[in-house]
Amino acid sequence: MKVITRFAPSPTGYIHIGNVRSAIYPYLLARQNNGKLILRIEDTDRERHVEGATELIEDTLEWLDLNWDEGPIVGGPNGPYFQSERKDIYLKWAKKLLDSGRAYADPTPSEKIEEYRKECNDKKIPFLYRNFRPQNPPEWKPGMPIRFKTEPKSYEWRDEVMGEMKSGPEVLDDIILIKKDGYPTYNFAHIVDDAEMNITHVMRGVEYLSSTPNYLALYEALGLERPHLVSLPHILAPNGNKKLGKRDGAKSVTEYRDDGVLAEAMLNYLACLGWNDGTEQEIYSKEELIQSFSLDRIQNSGARYDETKLLWLNGQWIRKIFDEQGAEALYVHTENFWPESAKNATDDYKIKVLSIIYDRLKVLSDLKTMTGYFFEDPKIDIEMLTNNKFLKKLSESELEALLKTSIKKLIDLKVWDEDSLQTALNELLEETGKKPAELFSLIRLALSFAPFSPALNLTLKTLGREISLARLNAVARSI
Ligand code: GLU
Repeated sequence: MKVITRFAPSPTGYIHIGNVRSAIYPYLLARQNNGKLILRIEDTDRERHVEGATELIEDTLEWLDLNWDEGPIVGGPNGPYFQSERKDIYLKWAKKLLDSGRAYADPTPSEKIEEYRKECNDKKIPFLYRNFRPQNPPEWKPGMPIRFKTEPKSYEWRDEVMGEMKSGPEVLDDIILIKKDGYPTYNFAHIVDDAEMNITHVMRGVEYLSSTPNYLALYEALGLERPHLVSLPHILAPNGNKKLGKRDGAKSVTEYRDDGVLAEAMLNYLACLGWNDGTEQEIYSKEELIQSFSLDRIQNSGARYDETKLLWLNGQWIRKIFDEQGAEALYVHTENFWPESAKNATDDYKIKVLSIIYDRLKVLSDLKTMTGYFFEDPKIDIEMLTNNKFLKKLSESELEALLKTSIKKLIDLKVWDEDSLQTALNELLEETGKKPAELFSLIRLALSFAPFSPALNLTLKTLGREISLARLNAVARSI
């Protein structure tokens, strides 16, 4: 059996962190089995439809490198892939049910339905529409909803994540298949599409679990084989027991991209949120995920979203790309994250800066705040020197003298490279009798006036002889 999975988002806004796993797991399962992933846009709820949301969904999947085999953009033999363009197909299937007596046209006005509902509420009994089903439904005409005529019974099924499940007749009702406006409900449309698209594994949020008995009844009435059902537990908000939602500030996936999170890290983080392969491994490439993924290791309880972990993982990925693929491979990802002052710097110089700072980055946008002094002279701030915890004890004249000694030492250097600079700095320590924290903090601050900079010899080397000495001189003069 060829594995065919689908990601079926509704274009109601951006894809946030909480729901992108419904794309990742079907992708992994399809790739692992040389199967197919179909992207289907479930846009039948016209009121919730948001202009541009489909593009956001495509953009997110493309960024995460989750390519789909059929769907918008790429097309395929099972199209159209927008449910709004498949109305005739749903109607054809609904008519089959009308003809076989398993569905009926429902002329009941909504006020009447509300009365029934209220009647049940007043009597404190559950409201089931099937108890009020019209006895002699009319012939169906456009503009009339079509409802399923359910047969109350019990079901048993297996959910690949939740295990063996059971339900009683009380959860089955005459659900609407086609709405007044001619659009199908999600409940009906996805059954039809999954069948027409030969989907073998339906993977979606656990919120659909309670409706599953109604879906089983529909499979049965339509003579369809049940696909494998896979309920993905919620991702929980950082606090409490709530599902992570847009209201808790769940950011869109691409917002993280814009903040400098690598797609590799995002995919790694989300795939491992509520799934593990039973080992201690934490860093997975997409290929490794495809290899290791298995449905039976998806956790059946909610996994908590932890942004700190995501950022940690991003730092790991930044280093991994640098170490395994080289500075240029990492540099490709940094384009949008340099400070304004780097505008005219050469690629070569930026790669040098990146090479000495990459292991301190959590997100690529840290480049903006951490590297400014590599591209323009920092503003001299003598108080920053005199207030520094290591330099506080030294008087201004001592600071000035120390700087002058350092300048003299550095001026004499024949070769301005990493090793010669380190040797000169070590000699300076000996000659001045100062601690590294004092001497190096002074030189570091005088070069950068930044809270942090990479190893001093590397900073000096990257800035170059001329700029380094000019900056140290300027500070010595200003004290
Ligand atoms: N359109 C549904 C949603 O966005 C998807 C459910 C499914 O995958 O069947 O929640």
